[in-house]
Amino acid sequence: MTNDDSPHGYRIGRADHECRYPVLVDEQQIGRIFRWHGGWLAIPAGTSEPIRRGDGRDGSDAAARYLLEEYRAGRITPQADTRKPDQGTGGRVPLLHPRMRDTDRNQNTARKAVAGLTAYQWEPRGGYPGADNPWAVRCQLCGWEGNRYWSHLRGRNGNPPSPYRHPGCIDADKVRAVIPAYANTSND
Ligand SMILES: [Zn+2]
Repeated sequence: MTNDDSPHGYRIGRADHECRYPVLVDEQQIGRIFRWHGGWLAIPAGTSEPIRRGDGRDGSDAAARYLLEEYRAGRITPQADTRKPDQGTGGRVPLLHPRMRDTDRNQNTARKAVAGLTAYQWEPRGGYPGADNPWAVRCQLCGWEGNRYWSHLRGRNGNPPSPYRHPGCIDADKVRAVIPAYANTSND
């Protein structure tokens, strides 16, 4: 890959299972960025303390640009882009996202969320991040992987979640037919 493919001077790589994206310069990692409660946080390479640097739609670019500026100022030493081993099927997925405090209350909430996820045929790929943060999940109906919010997946007002799961999934009618949890609720 040449620099022509990175018009901003950096490239955002594939997210890990905690939904953190590596920011790459010349294929060297200068840090990671991730979304948390509507903002974007940046973790400079070699550190573990996230810094909030962006909000809203353009937040990912703001957070990446911050890392780029720090790197160009000589304050970040890039690291090889080593990805963590896959925590997928067969691997152990932690109950809680690393940013969730390990309390009884959070554990209980996470267990309920995982049970709800399982009932609607989703598989968690990373620890529970809270209802309003992106959660890496796998669709067990078709194998799609991506990020979803538990606040959307859990349904609302006692109603089941939308059968429109993600672009490219099986038809909504089939989703209702194959997931028993939809049969327990009326659609009226
Ligand atoms: Zn699917």
